[in-house]
Amino acid sequence: MSWFTEDRREGRRPRICVDMDDTMADTMAEHIARYNAEHGLSVTKADLHGKWLWDHVPREHQPDLVRIMCAEDFFEDLEVLPDAPEVLLRLQEHYDIFIATAAMEVPSSFASKFRWLKRHFPFLPYRNFVFCGDKSILRAEYLIDDMPRYLKTFEGQGILFSAPHNALVTGWPRVENWLEVEQYLLPGGVPRALAQGG
Ligand SMILES: [Mg+2]
Repeated sequence: MSWFTEDRREGRRPRICVDMDDTMADTMAEHIARYNAEHGLSVTKADLHGKWLWDHVPREHQPDLVRIMCAEDFFEDLEVLPDAPEVLLRLQEHYDIFIATAAMEVPSSFASKFRWLKRHFPFLPYRNFVFCGDKSILRAEYLIDDMPRYLKTFEGQGILFSAPHNALVTGWPRVENWLEVEQYLLPGGVPRALAQGG
């Protein structure tokens, strides 16, 4: 892609866009926990191999899933996925990191998502937070995301962050966790392009 080469010639650092839900934050765990509590059930992530929670629950419970996710406090206290802060801090030494979340899907999430990022990733500049709708607008070398539909329209290199719902998806390099993200983007401690002589 020509703009890659041009921007790099001008000295711009390579960019990584990072999705929030189920890439940085364990959104699915919170969704399942709240759904289980409401219905006295014990759904686990293992039950969702190759499918969404939406596909797993009875049709009459689907409005409940929407309501749960739209609750004001839903995005406030999500667990951080293991090693995400430490790895992003190390990647930031070599790359510009942008957080790209399709926040328009749940407009009630804006404020709590912003607070969550500032609380758990204080080293990321808020100017690098991108609350967007269509992620195809992103211009970066890499996008780390659990959603294949965003990787499909991304012009750079997509990296699929493993989640039960994407277990059967192929077509992108897959990472199981943040330590694998680091191995992919900083092989041997240097940026991927340099390691590959690019
Ligand atoms: Mg996601």
